[in-house]
Amino acid sequence: MNIAKLIYTALLLMYCSFAYGLTPISSANPSAVNGILDLRGQTFSNQLPLNGQWKFYWHQLLSPQDSVVKNGTIVNFPFKWDGKVLNGKALPAFGYATYRLTVLLPKRTEILRIAMPDTYCAYKLFFNGKQVAENGQVSTSADGFTAYWQYRAVDIAPETDTLKINLQIANFVHSQAGIKKPLTIGTKTLVELDRRRAEAIDLMLTGCLVMGGIFFMGLYLRGNRDKAILLFSLYSIVYAYRIIGSDNYVLHTLLPNINWYITTRLEYTSLFIGICLFGLYTRYLYPKDVNIKLLYTLSGICFAFAAAAICLPPIYFTQLINPFLVVMLFCLVYVPGVYMVAYKRKRPGATYAVLSAFALMIVFAISLFHYWGFIPQLQFISFLCYISFFFLQSLVLSHRVSFVLKKAREQAEQGLKAKSEFLSTMSHEIRTPLNSVIGMSHLLLKNNPRPDQIEQIDVMLFSANNLLAIVNDILDYNKIEAGKIVFEHIEMDIAAIIRNIVSGLQTPAQDKGIDLKLNLDRDLQNKVLGDPTRLFQVISNLAHNAIKFTPKGFVEIGVEVQGQTDKMITLLIRVTDSGIGISPEKIKIIFDRFTQADSSTSRGFGGTGLGLAICKKILQLQHTSLQVSSKPGKGSTFYFIQSFEKSIKTVEQQQHEDNLPKQEDKPFTGVSILLVEDNPINVLVAQKFLERWGARADVAQNGVEALEKLDTAKHQLILMDLHMPIMDGYEATRKMRLNGVTLPIIALTANLLNEIEDQVKLAGITDMIAKPFLPDELFRKVLHYVHKNA
Ligand code: ADP
Repeated sequence: MNIAKLIYTALLLMYCSFAYGLTPISSANPSAVNGILDLRGQTFSNQLPLNGQWKFYWHQLLSPQDSVVKNGTIVNFPFKWDGKVLNGKALPAFGYATYRLTVLLPKRTEILRIAMPDTYCAYKLFFNGKQVAENGQVSTSADGFTAYWQYRAVDIAPETDTLKINLQIANFVHSQAGIKKPLTIGTKTLVELDRRRAEAIDLMLTGCLVMGGIFFMGLYLRGNRDKAILLFSLYSIVYAYRIIGSDNYVLHTLLPNINWYITTRLEYTSLFIGICLFGLYTRYLYPKDVNIKLLYTLSGICFAFAAAAICLPPIYFTQLINPFLVVMLFCLVYVPGVYMVAYKRKRPGATYAVLSAFALMIVFAISLFHYWGFIPQLQFISFLCYISFFFLQSLVLSHRVSFVLKKAREQAEQGLKAKSEFLSTMSHEIRTPLNSVIGMSHLLLKNNPRPDQIEQIDVMLFSANNLLAIVNDILDYNKIEAGKIVFEHIEMDIAAIIRNIVSGLQTPAQDKGIDLKLNLDRDLQNKVLGDPTRLFQVISNLAHNAIKFTPKGFVEIGVEVQGQTDKMITLLIRVTDSGIGISPEKIKIIFDRFTQADSSTSRGFGGTGLGLAICKKILQLQHTSLQVSSKPGKGSTFYFIQSFEKSIKTVEQQQHEDNLPKQEDKPFTGVSILLVEDNPINVLVAQKFLERWGARADVAQNGVEALEKLDTAKHQLILMDLHMPIMDGYEATRKMRLNGVTLPIIALTANLLNEIEDQVKLAGITDMIAKPFLPDELFRKVLHYVHKNA
């Protein structure tokens, strides 16, 4: 945001409002001469001030009947007498006097109204000999005197053509005395409307401030223990008092007879405390951009002023306003300065803070100039500026709150990222040795072991596979959570997948004496398109669970065709068992991660409680959902309904697949492969398999060695580990490609494949195999590239 432009626009707006809103108080208005104000030529389209030369009688409380009076002087009304020199003597603040004016009114049909402002500090007003208004109790001594301020207005009947005003004022409490604001005259409707407007504006502003204050207080109390928010809330509430408790004194109209001593103390205290709170608020808002000592000193001074306003008699504390103006002026310069610094340092919400300071400066300027009598109250402009100030400050705070939330979210995301990175690293670390264990076990099994060794190797393989399943589960869940899972869309034979699962689980089922059954719908004839790995994972997980939680009876895997067209087929896939079942209240939680229906489950049956959570998520991401119906003690059925696209395969493709060579035919005889791998056990495993299939493998232990040993005339394929000392697989591949090597390079990696996909492509690697590799996969990939190259 261009702040200069904004300030410029705001200035222009302010200028326009000033030009529009300024009521002329200049020479255009008639002025009293020698105690007589001639308004006979006036139409009263605006309110007129009764200003000019009034008669003033010091130390006399004249009643209208006292017609022969001495010692009268002419003063320029409105006239505050404290400190004024009369007959060579400076007048004290304490005392009493009478002001007199005769107003000549035009002929008219309308009722006129005179608005009487507040005076220092009690008055009695007479029109044509009759008392028409009073505030407090005027008296010639402090004894009978009572101070009071409240707005009053007096109507003048249409037939009155001459109005003799007799105004008695007395003061025995305040440091100022007399009257500072003009009496004004206008049509009754106009004066009433103006007053209502002024009251409405003040009340509206007060309402806004109180609501804002309560809102921010709530925010603070509800947990966001940010001191800036608390201080702003207090500032809003304190300042709300100033709006109705000063200037138009709307509060005094709302609560007539409210005690003068209380309201006056509150009026001053709210100003001192308000500035103090604002200073502290700035200190907490931009703690790094303020001079903390300076702000604490400033707040201390404000507090001292406030304490004086509470403890001292009014004659003293009412004198504090002028020295306090210095403090206010300092704040007016210093605080915007802080905001500018904060803006330059790009603190959250500083743009709004700068703009709000600008609005506040206008308010202060108006109230100062008005206080000194240079300009009228300009209430509407002040109102707009106040509203802008509080609105902008609220934006600063909301910006701050959302900034804190954003930061917290970023931290949480960073935490998640760290977790995922940790899991990836762990996966790498765990999978690499597992690769060796599983590979070597397979080799041992194929090297004619003794019967007793077969059993031991089986146990070892079983445990290693279990460990691999757990690692994979954790990784899988992590991957799904991070939204990193990508589904394949390739041809798959669902019947074959399920048959594979059943034959794989036959042994554990038989061991438990469970009848593991397969129930395939005859209508399931086609291969379909989908992700065979994930489908296998879901069904085998459910089947595993079924066997695990079934002490006796049966487990059945069933597929029913629910409907099919030429292109699509909808299947209901279910796993039913006659096991322990799940109670209705537990059914809700078994799909949550790391939860098991019974805390004794993990002890009795093992498991991590991740399986179902993963199945559910995998199916959810494929737009279907995992359902369960279960009766405790009777058994459970886990099922889902999924639609698949049918695969249409040409006869040639099918024949090609059928004609592919088999592993035992040593199809790679004569093929030479460069195996780049630093882990000797991995080398051993891969080498053994490749040799079993007829290939010859040359081994390089790192990238540099690979570059030396590569012979493009001899080698047909490169198997490249990615993480190696001296030079890693990426770098080695890049160098080979730069040297013009076009041979297929297959990466062997323990990372999650799609996490490194981009890096691998960029380096020029042809394909990838995840470690620990399955012999079948290695065979298929090698076959594919060797064939292609041939
Ligand atoms: P794990 O099997 O590793 O504990 P799962 O997420 O696969 O985790 O299952 C969560 C829980 O759901 C199990 O611990 C078990 O209490 C319950 N459960 C799952 N399948 C069955 C089933 N076929 N029969 C009874 N309870 C089951």
